[in-house]
Formats: sequence, structure tokens, C-alpha cells
Amino acid sequence: MTKLSLIKTSTLPEQKYGNHDTQKINLLGMSKQELADFFVSLGEKSFRATQLMKWIYQFGVTDFFEMTNISKKLQEKLDEVAHITPPAVKFKQFSEDGTRKWVFEVAGGSLVETVLIPAEDGKQFGRKTLCISSQVGCALDCSFCSTGKQGFERDLNASEIIGQLWVANQSYMEDVAPTARENRVTNVVMMGMGEPLLNYQPVVKSMSLMLDDHAFGLSKRRVTLSTSGIVPKMYELAKDIDVSLAISLHAPNDELRNELVPINKKYPLAELIKAAKSYVHDENPRHKKHVTIEYVMLAGVNDSDEHAHQLARLLEGLPSKINLIPFNPFPHAPYARSSNNRIHTFSNILNNAGYVCTTRQTRGDDIDAACGQLVGQVADRTRRAKQWKESVQKRQATT
Ligand code: SAH
Ligand code: SF4
Repeated sequence: MTKLSLIKTSTLPEQKYGNHDTQKINLLGMSKQELADFFVSLGEKSFRATQLMKWIYQFGVTDFFEMTNISKKLQEKLDEVAHITPPAVKFKQFSEDGTRKWVFEVAGGSLVETVLIPAEDGKQFGRKTLCISSQVGCALDCSFCSTGKQGFERDLNASEIIGQLWVANQSYMEDVAPTARENRVTNVVMMGMGEPLLNYQPVVKSMSLMLDDHAFGLSKRRVTLSTSGIVPKMYELAKDIDVSLAISLHAPNDELRNELVPINKKYPLAELIKAAKSYVHDENPRHKKHVTIEYVMLAGVNDSDEHAHQLARLLEGLPSKINLIPFNPFPHAPYARSSNNRIHTFSNILNNAGYVCTTRQTRGDDIDAACGQLVGQVADRTRRAKQWKESVQKRQATT
């Protein structure tokens, strides 16, 4: 993995967005129906909703007075009662390999991070995957995850979730006339901070805007929700929206998974695999061809040949693609990344058992942007963060 130098860094507070009059309604993140209701409440026709969505999401316009197919009178009315405001960018870093990272300051002062990872070929209009956060922190405390060590602070609302995608696209629109603008982000993964299925409504609403042709118009195969396995919500998701599903498995048996992904004690593997099978086989027309199985490679913990064979047996009958994720270390993490040789052997066992198994390339190392390592340091705001810090200090004192 090559280290890359930064070409553009801003660590100064940047309040480009986020200043707004809280008495007004934020239209960013509203569903099509909510927007239609809003226009009707103003005595307008509901079709205005799709007009406005195009301005907001396709042309990146937030100023009602730039919306040329809206009458002056309506522009003034909108300006009086509403605003379109994404979360405030606290700072951003753009890496030489095309990786971009934003830290947002959301209402209440909490920080969340978003990372854009371009395809290896670096083509201007090539694949660009945005890794979006759904919560500030996370309540689930997986043992290898720095977000988990922060504890849970709060859910993000729909404007804060979809706002991350809006700002990422906006970063390619500078100096382009509104009607000549194009969204550049091609793929979204809900793999930033937080467990998306524990913030269900805002996440589903935001993903609907990602898919909607009047908003971002992304294909359903290009929007992926990653979950640690909130089983009842997986069944709900299958009914509510048509997106790809990734499951953070990380262990092939309950004993080990209880340790690495503690939510497994509530929803053990048998239930999780059953829910995954139902998501794929579901008789409703939204069924998917496969789920993605995420498996973090922790040296000496979950990466033996036996673990690979167990995993192959566990996934029998579940159409799946396996994605091995080399562990991203964070300060005082009690794990190390498996060696490349080990990952290769593990992967071969799965390939030989008939699975498509890929290894995730870690990108944006120079800006701490690797997915799953969105927090450079454990934030010191919650009891869990305090306990984590104390346990690390104790460990250091005894070694
Ligand atoms: N909460 C959801 C989505 C966010 S985490 C989930 O757990 O699926 C996104 C992915 O990054 C998950 O697969 C998670 O297990 C993985 N991850 C977390 N910490 C990591 C680390 N230190 N190294 C590698 N992957 C990590
Ligand atoms: Fe939460 Fe996902 Fe991290 Fe687990 S891996 S603590 S579910 S963000």
C-alpha cells in the first residue's frame, strides 16, 4: 500500500453550509410525499415537489432565487418559510489518489465523517463510492471498531444523512453552471459511523432519495446498506426498499462472534443467516441475487484455515459474495491485521469451496479515510470512551 501526499487540505473550520434560521423548515432530506404536502400547505400544486427535488439534488442549488422555473412570488414565499441546508463542513481533506474526506459538525456540535473512494483507475467519470455515516458513534461496541469505542451519541436525521451525499457531489460542481451540473458519486455504502438499521426511518428515507430519479437516481445495485445483523429490521428492510445488503459477519461460529460482534448474543448466527436467506430469496419482486458478507481479518483471531472452512459451511445455501477486510488498526486496538499470505490462503479456501471472495483494498491511508476507521482518535464524550481509555491505560501500566 503506497502512502500518498495530500494535495489539498483544509483543517480550518469551514462554515460553508449549516448556517440557517432554525425557525424555517429545512427541505433537504424530505421525502417526495413530505415535499408535496409542504407545497399543498402553501396553496401550491404538489408537482412542485419534483421540480424542487431536481434543483436540490441534481443541480445542487440551495438558493430559491436561482430556481428559474419557479415564479418570483413563490421564490419569495419559499425563502420566507424554508431553507435548504446540508450539515456544516468542519474540515475536508482531498488526497492525491482521489479519495476525499469530510468531517461534518452536526447540530449539537458532534462530528461525523464521510469518505469518498474513487475506483483504482482514477478516471474522471469512473466509479466513486461514498461511505456515509448514519449515527454519531454506535451503541454496539464491536471489539475491533473504533466507532464502537466512542459509544453512542445520537441518530442523524435525514438531512444530515443525505446531506453527506449532497456535499460530496457538490465538491465536483464548483464553477459549473447549475443546469450543466452532474452528480459524480456513483455508489453509496452505508458503512460509515453507526448501525444504519438502528436509525431505520431516516436511513430508509435517505436511501429512497438516493434511488429516486428526481433526486440522485442511483441504481439499486449501487446503494448498499451494511449491518451487524439487526435481524427484525432486516425483514422490514426487504419489504420497504430495494437496496443491496452487506452483513458484517466477521466470525463463522457463535462463540467467536459473541466476542467480536456482541449483538450476536441477541441475534445469533442461525437467525442472522435465516434473515439473510429470506432477504435474498424473498418472494417479493425485490429479491436480490446475493448478499455481501463482510469479514474483517484479525491476525490469529478469526483467520485460520479452520475458520475459513467453517465459514464455507455456514454460508451453504446462501447466495453470497465474501469481502475480506484487512483490519484497520486504531490507537490501542487489541488486534493486528492478518498477513497478506494468510488473507490469500483464507481467500483460496473460500474460492475452492465455490464462493466469490475478494479482498478490500484499503485506500486513503494518508487521510485516515479507510472505511471502518472513520474516527482517528476515540472521542472522549461518553462513558464507554472513558472506560476504554482507562482499560488502555491499565494495560499500558502492566506492560
Ligand atoms: N454498523 C454497520 C456499518 C458500519 S461499519 C456494520 O457494522 O456493518 C462498516 C464496516 O466496517 C463493517 O463491516 C465493520 O465491521 C467494518 N469495520 C469496523 N471497524 C473496522 C476496522 N477497524 N477494520 C476493518 N473493518 C472495520
Ligand atoms: Fe457499530 Fe458497525 Fe462499528 Fe459494530 S462495526 S461498533 S455495528 S459501527
